Amino acid sequence: MVQDSYPMAGSLKTEAVVLRSLRYGEADRILHLYSSDHGRIAAIAKGVRKARSRFGGRLEPCSRVALVLHRGRSELLTVTGADTVAAHARLREHAAALDAAVRACDAVNRLFGDGEPHPPAYHLLCNELALLDRDPALATWANQLAFRLKLLVAAGLAPQLGSCATCGEAEHLVGFSGAAGGVVCSACEAGAFPLSEAAHAFMTAALGAPLAEAPRADVPALRQAERAISATAEHHAGVQLRSAVADAALRA
Ligand SMILES: [Zn+2]
Repeated sequence: MVQDSYPMAGSLKTEAVVLRSLRYGEADRILHLYSSDHGRIAAIAKGVRKARSRFGGRLEPCSRVALVLHRGRSELLTVTGADTVAAHARLREHAAALDAAVRACDAVNRLFGDGEPHPPAYHLLCNELALLDRDPALATWANQLAFRLKLLVAAGLAPQLGSCATCGEAEHLVGFSGAAGGVVCSACEAGAFPLSEAAHAFMTAALGAPLAEAPRADVPALRQAERAISATAEHHAGVQLRSAVADAALRA
């Protein structure tokens, strides 16, 4: 059992993924961390930008680390120890994989900012980063959307896909409503946007398949699926997700 010393003064040990790293002062960085035991936390890593920092390169974004953190009088924790659990060095050599990893971290940062632990979200993020590191070719739009769908489930925001989210009708599902929280039928589509059969099938298959086996779909279907995911996050968590892919040409 994890000893829960947070938020008391003293030190705490936790495993975390570095979501973001912001320059601070002359040589420090402020880290946004997603931890297994405490959810999202912020910590300062002092002297980390010096050439001979004792942390070396271990606190780079998208790294998975075992940390010792000190809690003093300030709101901010201080990193006093860091050991690498998974550096994900391979994904850093591939621009698309690194971009996907950064977007995955950003989605977690936005959806899970409540300071509560969500172990399924932590394990999902670790799984996604490990996949991208093992096979950088998995950094596809479909993979990123499958990750976000599973993240919505971990947040308790699974979109309803099996029947109309408004009236329960199982046929003629033609749209998606973020406000209703899922697909809607032709009688309930006011205020919804169109969701093609292909986009609906992609979302259902992506939720049912392992992350490494995200289903294929064409660009219009992926675009609709992304809109459905974003609308769900916006209506039910008040969160605006960044676009899931960088390539503007792909989205045009
Ligand atoms: Zn309906």
